[in-house]
Amino acid sequence: MGKIVINKTNLFHNLEIISKQAKGKEKVAIVLKDNAYGHGLLEIAKLSNEFGIKKAVVQTLDEAIKIEKLFDEILILAEDIFHTYSHTFHIAVNSLEQLEKIPQNWNIHLKVDTGMHRNGINKNQLKEAIDGICKRNLKFTGLFTHYRSADVLSTEFYWQKAIFGQIKKEVKSICEQLFLPFPKFHSANSSALFRFKDYDDDFARVGIATYGYLESDTIITNPDLKPILSLWAKKMATRTLKKGEKVGYGGTYEAKEEMCVSTYDVGYGDGFFRLNESHKYITPKGYEVLGRVSMDNLSINSDDEEVCLFDDAKNLAKIHNTISYEIVTALKPHIKKEIK
Ligand SMILES: *Cc1c(COP(=O)(O)O)cnc(C)c1O
Repeated sequence: MGKIVINKTNLFHNLEIISKQAKGKEKVAIVLKDNAYGHGLLEIAKLSNEFGIKKAVVQTLDEAIKIEKLFDEILILAEDIFHTYSHTFHIAVNSLEQLEKIPQNWNIHLKVDTGMHRNGINKNQLKEAIDGICKRNLKFTGLFTHYRSADVLSTEFYWQKAIFGQIKKEVKSICEQLFLPFPKFHSANSSALFRFKDYDDDFARVGIATYGYLESDTIITNPDLKPILSLWAKKMATRTLKKGEKVGYGGTYEAKEEMCVSTYDVGYGDGFFRLNESHKYITPKGYEVLGRVSMDNLSINSDDEEVCLFDDAKNLAKIHNTISYEIVTALKPHIKKEIK
């Protein structure tokens, strides 16, 4: 179980940096999918609302319903069942077929493929899609794309940005012909936002930077973001090991001398990945996680009542050969949250 502590000062610090780069709080849509990257959907939604953020991005309609009152606009990325209408909700549409399934009057954001080749309509389908939107009485409130390599130092970002610029022009001209108001244009995730010198979209969709990370080549950009989450474990039992005694499954940790060992209440079942003999991990206070992590507990050479397991996911990401996104998103929603 354990608990997650959210550092409100650090969160507001990050949102301040992000809003400045996006040129205003109203130009930031905070990405809250996957339980706010493991940080707690409602907790982060309420805090962002308190900071003054007006837009959010989630994956499903059920997530949007939980936070409806806290935002003016909520973009829903992947939903195909439309059981509850709200003028606050905007549905991301990835294909012409998907357009056909959306009930009348709903707000939609059309996604255009500018080179990632994962989601979105082809740019030569723009006219057909916008005609379809009108015919079906949908509200064309947004048009967006996603960069495939904003985090690596190469020219790829710039050619995709140029393609999107071209698409914006085309869409504006189609809207003028049809007497439609312009949709809101957006393209940047966290790493893309910090590559713009002069951000000129209507808003940015910011996930990982909110939580204090940026998985970009550090040579590109280095905003002073601070991790906002720490994971804490509570002591369950303490014992003294004699020299040569072993701890946990497989007995992979052996005491080199008499030592104090405690069991704490966090394991891989809570989303704290399994560490083993080849993955030595030292906590922020300098304790060592001993041997293998079990499903619901782990052993540490400490007898503190509570131990902070991590306050910067980058260190764990390195050990597990992954990215900070995966470390925090793995944390299970059942873990209690505390805001400090
Ligand atoms: C998850 C997601 C984002 C946020 O990306 P970050 O790199 O976490 O900022 C933005 N846009 C879309 C479409 C996404 O799915």
